[in-house]
Amino acid sequence: MSKAEAEKKIEKLRQEIRHHDHLYYVLDKPAIADREYDKLFRELKELESQYPELITPNSPTQRVGGEPLKSFKTVTHKTPLLSLDNLMDEDELLAFDKRVREGLGVDKVEYVCELKMDGLAVSLVYKNGKFVQGSTRGDGIHGEDITINLKTIKAIPLVLKDEVDLEARGEVYLPYDHFIKLNEERQEKDEAIFANPRNAAAGSLRQLDPKVTAGRPLSIFLYYGSIEEKVKTHYEVLQYLKEQGFKTNPNTRICEGISEVQKYIKEWDEKREKLPYDIDGIVIKVNKLHDQQKLGFTARAPRWAAAYKYPPMQSETIVEDIQVQVGRTGAITPVAHLKPVHLAGVVVKRATLHNEDEIRRKGIKIKDHVKVQRAGEVIPEVVEVVKSKRTGHEKDFHMPKECPICGSKIYKPEGEAIARCINFACPAQVMGRIIHFTTREAMDMEHVGPALVAQLVEKGYVKDAADLYSLTKEDIMKLERMADKSAQNVIDSIKASLDRPFDRLIYALGIRMIGRRTAQLLADNYSNIDELAKASEADLSQIHEIGPKVAEAVAFFFKQKGNQRLIEKLREAGVRVKGQGARGKGPLTGKTFVFTGGLTNYTRPAAEELVRKLGGRASSSVSKETSYVVAGTDPGSKYDKAKKLGVEILTEGEFQSLIHKHK
Ligand SMILES: [Zn+2]
Repeated sequence: MSKAEAEKKIEKLRQEIRHHDHLYYVLDKPAIADREYDKLFRELKELESQYPELITPNSPTQRVGGEPLKSFKTVTHKTPLLSLDNLMDEDELLAFDKRVREGLGVDKVEYVCELKMDGLAVSLVYKNGKFVQGSTRGDGIHGEDITINLKTIKAIPLVLKDEVDLEARGEVYLPYDHFIKLNEERQEKDEAIFANPRNAAAGSLRQLDPKVTAGRPLSIFLYYGSIEEKVKTHYEVLQYLKEQGFKTNPNTRICEGISEVQKYIKEWDEKREKLPYDIDGIVIKVNKLHDQQKLGFTARAPRWAAAYKYPPMQSETIVEDIQVQVGRTGAITPVAHLKPVHLAGVVVKRATLHNEDEIRRKGIKIKDHVKVQRAGEVIPEVVEVVKSKRTGHEKDFHMPKECPICGSKIYKPEGEAIARCINFACPAQVMGRIIHFTTREAMDMEHVGPALVAQLVEKGYVKDAADLYSLTKEDIMKLERMADKSAQNVIDSIKASLDRPFDRLIYALGIRMIGRRTAQLLADNYSNIDELAKASEADLSQIHEIGPKVAEAVAFFFKQKGNQRLIEKLREAGVRVKGQGARGKGPLTGKTFVFTGGLTNYTRPAAEELVRKLGGRASSSVSKETSYVVAGTDPGSKYDKAKKLGVEILTEGEFQSLIHKHK
């Protein structure tokens, strides 16, 4: 390929990748599977490495790049990012409307209502349609230059549709599901957890190493663009931003007069708990830009806009008791048992207290009146004690010295926040480990849930994760509420887990400090479980990104006799203990199949075995990584999901001919 041809090809690939980023991250409508996207990306990267002189700062390959910064530069905003006046109740809302109407000399005003994201305000500057600088709001006049971190947010276009000069503003946020996952990972690694999604987003944007930010799936909604000369209303500004490739909130609405604004506020007060992200109010703006100019600004804030604040989703109740839970790593977590209380649409009975230090810091005693708060699906949390309601009968909580489940000593290492039961055989830990082993992100045993594991452990059928593989259908049918069909589903989903990728097994073992990513790293570096088990701390530390604490945890795990026995049992049960590379290659290597619905000519395990024999993988859940979904009679939700993700769907007949072709 000549350089000119390469240049053409590079530009074409960039356009395609941008198009798919827009579909996926802005419109939430992916059109191709992940691996197709990865292919485009790899191709671009390869060409760019052949012709490094053709790399531009706005190429999709340059989202995560550059060395960590020592500090952030200060940026002076061209026009200040003002804050909005807050309206705390209906009276203040009506007074705002009155001021606006009087200022404009009209009876009724056209407003635009937007959800007020509880995130971090940022400014994005584009020159000739190219993203050149991004900064935090800061004090409104000066912010911090966080361009390298903002570039990692895929919902932010690096190149706009038109070659325009523009400043756009918006709110960066972390969706709830990612927030929960992030905190789980941090807890796993004994790192401090984030109090709310907003703090997590702020912490992520202020990372000096853009690689850390890139690992946090932040998103953004835009609500301002400096294009006053092109349009007449604020609503048109938002439409324009959308056309240029920005993500705008779909719930924004034009409201004729204050009564429609009131309706909007009420509607979202009820609906907000169902949103996948945090909002803390509604922003109300005068729609006509000409009217905005007429109203102007006070020293602090525009006169044509205001923020109606929702009260936090909080309730008051009583801490009836504080008890501790024992997790799979032996971590002892104190939990407040509350007098049941309505909070954001659900009845709350428990709230996490995280650890002993947290209880001391908040000064929580048993029988205290407390305020509890809930954000979305996040576990409710005790915010503060209502000290004025104390009667003197409240009691201090003391961490037990012994594990409430097994009676072993509780140990809290110096400098760590979390106390642990150190008995590896503690039933609470055993159960926790087995449940972890079965989860979707580990061995993905679809029909084996926590309640079933609890029964199996209690009945003595299962003493460790490997015992799951010797269960029979008859064993399962002896349990409560287990009919023939559901027992078969349990057995099938256990069997389907035999062939999970090696990194899943590493993660499933529940080694301390080993999350999904680290498990993947280990699988990339060791081709089978024996190599990994033999690795010394020093060997492990050689791997980039694996620190001494993680290396120690891994080496420690494999030194334990009990764990060695567990791995032997898993191997005997037929669990895959090797990486992809070490596995026999076949015509279907690299292909993943998911079966849904009934098959006529095969049992499901037999069909899955065929796939495995030819080098492919059988999985029980559909993702973008899935190559084919084989749909039999009465296919279930997997079929719909496959359709949505654009995964190729085969009939049983098509599957059959595919298999025969390769046999
Ligand atoms: Zn214990």
